Amino acid sequence: MTTANLRPMMKCGHAANSLTWEKKPACAICFGIRDGATVVAETPPDLTGREAGCSYCGKTRPSSPGLAFFEHCPELTRDRFYCGCMDCGGRRR
Ligand SMILES: [Zn+2]
Ligand SMILES: [Zn+2]
Repeated sequence: MTTANLRPMMKCGHAANSLTWEKKPACAICFGIRDGATVVAETPPDLTGREAGCSYCGKTRPSSPGLAFFEHCPELTRDRFYCGCMDCGGRRR
């Protein structure tokens, strides 16, 4: 069961990328590190017109919670995600 394009945004800033044992949306990246990893943001960020850049290869896509490991970075000009392409796997920094 996947809802690739309907992942809720979590309070930590990532789109939900995991589930808790209760089957609630969660962020596996921040779980146990940051508050908000299991809390859905009440007011999802407005992503209209924003771009997300791949943390590894720098490719960009229109921001969407459906992107892998999407993270909304309101203080930056670009959001972040991981596109998972060949470049990403080949040269991690
Ligand atoms: Zn997170
Ligand atoms: Zn990439």
